[in-house]
Amino acid sequence: MMNEPIATLEPLSRYFTYTAFEEHFMAAVKALPPDQYAFSFLGSSVDNQSIYGLRLGHGAFKILAWSQMHGNESTSTRAIIDLLHSKDLFQALKNISLYIIPVLNPDGLSSWSRFNSNGIDLNRDAVNLSQPESVILKEVIDFYEPDLALNLHGQRTFYGIAGSVLPAQLSFLTPAADVSKGVNASRLKSMALINNIVKTVKPQMQTAIARYDDSFNVNCWGDYCQSVGIPTLLFEAGHAGDDYARDEVKTLIISSLKSVFTNCSKDEEIEEEVTLNQYLEIPEIARNYCDILIRNAPSVKGNRDLAIMYHEQIEDSQLHFIPMLFAVNDSTIIYGHRMIDLKTDLHYSNDLEVHENMTVTSASLKIGAFIK
Ligand SMILES: [Zn+2]
Repeated sequence: MMNEPIATLEPLSRYFTYTAFEEHFMAAVKALPPDQYAFSFLGSSVDNQSIYGLRLGHGAFKILAWSQMHGNESTSTRAIIDLLHSKDLFQALKNISLYIIPVLNPDGLSSWSRFNSNGIDLNRDAVNLSQPESVILKEVIDFYEPDLALNLHGQRTFYGIAGSVLPAQLSFLTPAADVSKGVNASRLKSMALINNIVKTVKPQMQTAIARYDDSFNVNCWGDYCQSVGIPTLLFEAGHAGDDYARDEVKTLIISSLKSVFTNCSKDEEIEEEVTLNQYLEIPEIARNYCDILIRNAPSVKGNRDLAIMYHEQIEDSQLHFIPMLFAVNDSTIIYGHRMIDLKTDLHYSNDLEVHENMTVTSASLKIGAFIK
């Protein structure tokens, strides 16, 4: 009998169904060396979708990573699938056991929502444990007892970098361990790892990396882990330019994860002052961007600056980006991933329209809905 040919799956795009995720994940798992992994069914979401766990490698240093706790943040999940296929994965995991929960909030993924099916933000449920998805994560933390936690997220397009014209392609945070936001051993270890990511990943494509804000909330998982002594890194996959598929950023997330794998198990002395200073030198995130910034749009009341943000909506299993008016003459929004100045743009033919439902169109400026 002839062997069935192995079907090659198209890479997952920004939005995918949970069934498509399961197909990609299972295919990637089946291709792993059998003695290097253990696969688990961890339980079910509110809408009864399966949540999976995967343990890789046999090293002594234990990392726990969870992704897509917010259902509409898929970049790190796609990075994980690619990582499972990468040839040097087990080289990078030499001294490590890596436990991955690739999608913690399958119902949020299905509805392309930050929240779970009960409308709860799972990242505000670390202490309350009111949702089955939160209970699953807590059980994994308790039985696996990780030496390091990676809390993988994606962020919206309105983040830039304080004091810079650049948008935030990546941002990182070592969450606070208590309200005083002091630096304990666990936080210092996380800072050193973030500093290493900045050193190794920033030179690639001149990546713009920012530091996320660290106000303490013990109901956030990163803060909870840090408060019980587990060094924790929050990853935020960001955005730049026209990368609405977030493929460039996906590559940067993979490099960042590999940087952590390579550096985390090193048992070297961390110099507190140097590490803290390097960490604080990473510029802070700033909410100063929008998707399209149109300067000097004429109106009866004179010229106005229009900030447009895309609303993301699932229709027919596809992710639609719909341009909506977000703010007018807002001095805090300084940059757009696309900037247009109608004073100087000669292609403008006065067809810019803001409709009653706040959607924005202009054929001459090529502003309209698109699919990714
Ligand atoms: Zn998130």
